[in-house]
Amino acid sequence: MTRTRPVDDGLFVEGDDGPSLLASSCRACGTTTFPRQQSCPKCTRMDMEDRLLPRRGTLWSFTVQGFRPKSPYAGPKDFTPYGVGYVELPGAVIVEAILTGNDPQRLRIGDPMELVVVPFREDDDGTQVLTYAFSPVQSA
Ligand SMILES: [Zn+2]
Repeated sequence: MTRTRPVDDGLFVEGDDGPSLLASSCRACGTTTFPRQQSCPKCTRMDMEDRLLPRRGTLWSFTVQGFRPKSPYAGPKDFTPYGVGYVELPGAVIVEAILTGNDPQRLRIGDPMELVVVPFREDDDGTQVLTYAFSPVQSA
């Protein structure tokens, strides 16, 4: 079986219903940040608590990354263009994320999106590194 690890601890957690992003929320003013922060960017207090973000949101803006980003990009050795976008989650939190797929024809602002965990690259020892991404919700 392939070993896996998250690209970074503390970005997302896997639950029974699927993955959720891990954010922090200010106890004083309710501001939510992702990734987590020690202090509130709005009121500067150090009174943050962990909060799981909703798994679904809507596509707010996106682009397609068509060339290899500059160092310290830690992606796969063979670069393929990928979508990157901002997804607005309920509670007025907008997160930046990789999007599954890179066909701009298949993405539309306002589309419903869902959090998924996807392979990102492989470590030298073969461990598969996982990251989070948003994928268009498959309408049944
Ligand atoms: Zn605050």
